[in-house]
Amino acid sequence: MKKHVIIAGAGLGGLTTALRLAKRGFEVEILEKNERAGGRLNQVKKDGFTFDTGPSFFSMSYEFKEFADDCGIELPFEFVELDPLYTVNFSNSPKTYTLYKDLDKLAAQFAEEEPDFKEKFQKYIRKSGQLYNDTVDKVIKTNFDSKLGYLLTLATVNPVHLPVLMKTFWKQVEQYFDSAQAQQIVSLIAFFLGRTPFDTSAVYSLLSHIEFVNDGYYNVKGGMYQIVEGLVKELKMAGVKLNYNIEIKEVKELNGKVIALVDQNGKSWKADAFVINADAAVFRGRVLKRKKYSEEKLRKMKWTMGYLTFYIGVNKKLPQVHHHNYFLGTNYKDYSLKVLKQPDTLEKPYYYVNVVSKHNPDCAPEGCESLFFVCPVPNLLYKRNWDDRDKIVNSILEDFSKRIGEDITGSIVSRTIYTPLEWEKHFNLYEGSGLGLSHHMSQIGGFRPANKDEDLNNLFYVGASTVPGAGLPMAVISSKLTTQRVTEYFE
Ligand SMILES: Cc1cc2nc3c(=O)[nH]c(=O)nc-3n(C[C@H](O)[C@H](O)[C@H](O)COP(=O)(O)OP(=O)(O)OC[C@H]3O[C@@H](n4cnc5c(N)ncnc54)[C@H](O)[C@@H]3O)c2cc1C
Repeated sequence: MKKHVIIAGAGLGGLTTALRLAKRGFEVEILEKNERAGGRLNQVKKDGFTFDTGPSFFSMSYEFKEFADDCGIELPFEFVELDPLYTVNFSNSPKTYTLYKDLDKLAAQFAEEEPDFKEKFQKYIRKSGQLYNDTVDKVIKTNFDSKLGYLLTLATVNPVHLPVLMKTFWKQVEQYFDSAQAQQIVSLIAFFLGRTPFDTSAVYSLLSHIEFVNDGYYNVKGGMYQIVEGLVKELKMAGVKLNYNIEIKEVKELNGKVIALVDQNGKSWKADAFVINADAAVFRGRVLKRKKYSEEKLRKMKWTMGYLTFYIGVNKKLPQVHHHNYFLGTNYKDYSLKVLKQPDTLEKPYYYVNVVSKHNPDCAPEGCESLFFVCPVPNLLYKRNWDDRDKIVNSILEDFSKRIGEDITGSIVSRTIYTPLEWEKHFNLYEGSGLGLSHHMSQIGGFRPANKDEDLNNLFYVGASTVPGAGLPMAVISSKLTTQRVTEYFE
């Protein structure tokens, strides 16, 4: 008889694990808290507009291809490679930097500020590439059974990288570049990990290699939610049952094993093994009531920042705006040091704008544009009252209008705002922390909440909150690592 596996959570981690397991002959069922799949990779459809709610691009496309090969399917969505990758504008200058993958075109952007950018970037990116190549298989794509095993593996990494362990991302970038513009633009990627270049390890400068050399960034034709729609179709064809509006509140255990997950209505869901796609630390604390993850301990962990996201439909086209755009101020260091904890950064916020309708005309009515704004903000540990949401959003819309040389405030026909309160409520994100646990050295690899439960031997975890970490490709790698755990359990 087929072994039955229940997965709680239909985020990318849950969906990809479900398909990998179904294709290996397991009977798989998904229980999702919300009325549809996707988790943070979701969609707002309103007033004729379609917006991606969270992820707006991804890197490491080869991880999706590996997933499709592993499942014996064609990927059920289409990638669109981004080049240029994105633009960056500083508030004190009309200049917009366009980040190309081609090194000569990229260097030309910095011709005035950093005339030898090309040589410096080549050196920087060589180091990033070495870091990536020396760690990706050993550290990122490996299951660790203990902290010691993890540390022993780290000890086998080329010692030439040791100095990087002692430095922040910012220090690393400062070592290679002299101009403020190059330093800030190259270190911007640390924000993608939910912290800042000033408190993210220089190890993560390997992301620059992924960003510029190894793979770049991709969109999905029709919007990012096509990933979810395509996967749900494949799951249904593979016989996976998806149950929505089911939130797991309790676990029934017997003799070191889970026998059932219990939902908000008291219904028990029985299976042979269980995979949790909800946050692996929060689930251990709030559902399993583990002391190591008590409220006090959870609070002391290092969480990523919150996001104020808003979804704006305008009844005109904005040809001057690129697909992915960063709008920065003039106080990068001061801003970075404050943004995680101090709401006063919201007086002059930094933000990102994605124009999803640029490559996907179906995402907006004719002659209109779908704009998705992301503004890094303190999570709910540091700012719980969001009554000022409209004021902040209006100030960003005014700033954006100035920077693109066109007032959009009178052309807005659709407006939706998510503060960290909504992110917390919709997806059970701890204190509205957008990317969950940070990638501090004490919270990665063998130190991150493991994907195999410590006490219950048929209970596993998948997704951004367990190994290897946050981001869409990491969720796909996580599903591979968790699938290994589940199959080993039944061997
Ligand atoms: C604003 C924003 C922008 C981002 N941009 C990017 C980007 O451009 N590129 C990129 O690669 N990544 C990006 N990310 C990160 C990316 O979204 C996440 O890392 C990834 O989607 C996490 O997937 P997951 O499966 O681990 O978790 P989730 O997507 O959080 O899925 C977990 C699922 O579990 C469900 N759940 C929770 N608790 C329970 C319960 N008790 N019972 C049942 N179900 C439960 C939730 O409803 C959810 O559906 C972004 C994130 C945010 C917030």
